[in-house]
Amino acid sequence: MSESVRIGLLGCGNVGAAFVNLVNERANAIAERTGIQLSITKVAVRDAKANRGTSLPGDAFVTDVNSVVEDPNVDLIVEVMGGISPAREAITAALGKGKPVVTANKALLAETGAEMFAVADATGVDLLFEAAVAGGIPFIRPLRESLRGEPIGRVMGIVNGTTNFILSKMTEEGADYADVLREAQRLGFAEADPTADVEAFDAASKCAIIASIAFAADVRAADVHREGITSIGAADIAIARRLGYVIKLLAIAERTKGSNQLSVRVHPAMVPVTHPLASVRDAYNAVFVEGAAVGSLMFYGRGAGGDPTASAVLGDVIDAAVNLKKGTHAMLGSFVRPAFTPIDDTTSEYLLSLEVLDQPGVLHAITGVFAKNGVSIRAAEQVGIGESARLVFITHSAREASVQQCLREFGSLGVVKRSDGFIRVVGQ
Ligand code: NAP
Repeated sequence: MSESVRIGLLGCGNVGAAFVNLVNERANAIAERTGIQLSITKVAVRDAKANRGTSLPGDAFVTDVNSVVEDPNVDLIVEVMGGISPAREAITAALGKGKPVVTANKALLAETGAEMFAVADATGVDLLFEAAVAGGIPFIRPLRESLRGEPIGRVMGIVNGTTNFILSKMTEEGADYADVLREAQRLGFAEADPTADVEAFDAASKCAIIASIAFAADVRAADVHREGITSIGAADIAIARRLGYVIKLLAIAERTKGSNQLSVRVHPAMVPVTHPLASVRDAYNAVFVEGAAVGSLMFYGRGAGGDPTASAVLGDVIDAAVNLKKGTHAMLGSFVRPAFTPIDDTTSEYLLSLEVLDQPGVLHAITGVFAKNGVSIRAAEQVGIGESARLVFITHSAREASVQQCLREFGSLGVVKRSDGFIRVVGQ
């Protein structure tokens, strides 16, 4: 005999409608395996009359979010509306009423995650959010549960499918950013306004959530140093490729060596072609975790899309429903505000590409600037381009502020016409 868990759904767009269909298809199989019979009682949307292509009756749809949360025939809330308000108020109210919540809302968690987790722990109710980072890829639960005993050194992720699609196309077809962006928009991989993706706001939110879970810290999107992909050109991609690298937009959360600080950042990076992240193509996502005893792990799959994201939501719903019936919940723990390492104090290897006058003494002047700022060179190459030459350097590990200082000083040497390539090298 199955026990019933009745779901109140907030939002029925891409993810919500896919979730309704998965529950419809799989509820009986889930009941056989878990003894929990899932059903969806009520759905809040903005337009209750719109056709959602689901099997739910028309009168299941309402526009009042509170009426779903408060409904005595709703045991568990799935929040897939997005945005901060009214999602924040609805989740807080549901937890307060002892109703577990499953959410895919990265924007909300990246702004108020620690506050929400504290409410969930105080009320003793589940707040699960596997789908909020990397869509269908099971990654938050392994990080939170399987790797609980593992001191995490660094997490690096390709967590935005749109930018990975664009960079993959640029790499494979030698195409320019603007052309590939147009193609991505035509194919539905990029929004008409692509800012959230290409300027890395979306990846920064995910980076904050990853850092919060990996380091049990209160990290918010605004803490994350953010650089998008709009300055990456076909020339950068070609140079990277010739030197044995691909350019990826990486979200990086790491403990700064020798301190208690965290470094959280999203920026384009050159990744060696031999690194597992280099092979993540198209709109796929992957998260690479480095632990002390476990070594390196990579989680790979579809980071977005209705069905993959709904699959992650459904997994959380089953867990939360089982816990509800057992009267237990997953502890999230306390999340304290950490100290952050400013980007100037981070260290990395760097690729610098300089267009210089093709005349004697130029290399000497440039290496003098590197030496003065304590930046040593691991590799260098020169390519002639008419009256000018392009000098490409890869540094040894150096402090960001020192490399930026070199770039400023190159400008006043009189022999550097442009220093347009500056890309961090990650994953050696
Ligand atoms: P979506 O297609 O825009 O759907 C949002 C739904 O929420 C719509 O049904 C909308 O109603 C409803 N809604 C929005 N504001 C509301 C309000 N104030 N009151 C009542 N209903 C409201 O969004 P989505 O792509 O499904 O994404 C949902 C969430 O999942 C977001 O937090 C997103 O970040 C996250 N997520 C999405 C993906 C993905 O691939 N799409 C992947 C991972 C995570 P109407 O339909 O009537 O407008």
